[in-house]
Amino acid sequence: MLDNIRIVLVNTHHPGNIGSAARAMKNMGITRLYLVDPKNFPSFEASQRASSASDVLTNAVVVDTLAEALTGCSLVCGTTARLRSVKWPQVDGRECGEIIHAESEQHEVALVFGRERSGLSNDELELCQTLVNITTGEAYSSLNLGQAVQVLAYEILMASRQGEPIETQSEPKDEKDVLATNDQLEGMYNHYVDALTDMNFFGKRNPEHIMRKLRCLYGRARPTQRETQILRGILSYAQGRRTQTPEKED
Ligand code: SAH
Repeated sequence: MLDNIRIVLVNTHHPGNIGSAARAMKNMGITRLYLVDPKNFPSFEASQRASSASDVLTNAVVVDTLAEALTGCSLVCGTTARLRSVKWPQVDGRECGEIIHAESEQHEVALVFGRERSGLSNDELELCQTLVNITTGEAYSSLNLGQAVQVLAYEILMASRQGEPIETQSEPKDEKDVLATNDQLEGMYNHYVDALTDMNFFGKRNPEHIMRKLRCLYGRARPTQRETQILRGILSYAQGRRTQTPEKED
């Protein structure tokens, strides 16, 4: 439930980062923004960077302390650019997406981001149950604030989509776009043998070996009925049956 997730930005200095964060959130379907003592808000720059996510800024809740922003949350994850030697469990971005999504099915959760220069203080981290560190290259671990929000919002959205059917696997619009049946594939393989024989392709080659390789290839590709028809059309054409009405392709 993305509605149960709040993104909390603590003491943000650059209003542009607030705008980028709002945009990153809305792009990923998260809309509840809390701002703890922002340096400069509302601001033109924030609105400009938010682009079509200005509604996220308009509805943002501005509070004085982090504790106020976390009221009612049963899970609080604090983000950090540095791995810290602390007692809290630390997770990466992917795991963060998973635990926030799982918890948000039942409860309110917060994901907290720190200041541009100094991140979150130890007192602020004390209010978090889990620390999140986005994996980076070794040379530079500190992401821009808006980009850190983007990465984690994306991971939360992806975690929430787990288990949903992938769009490309949904019902085909056209009956010819269903996978070819076994007998249709066998028809195509027989056609291959005929066509390759007609073309004297086999020569000294071993037809069984060639056909086994083609079966492997099409076994991986899993052609649809339409694709199988096109392939057979090509074989017919190569065999010289050029008078055949060409397949209408779309
Ligand atoms: N110099 C600060 C970096 C602050 S970057 C420090 O060392 O802590 C501003 C904020 O962006 C951080 O407080 C955190 O909320 C987020 N952030 C930046 N890089 C991150 C990373 N690799 N993993 C998780 N959060 C990150």
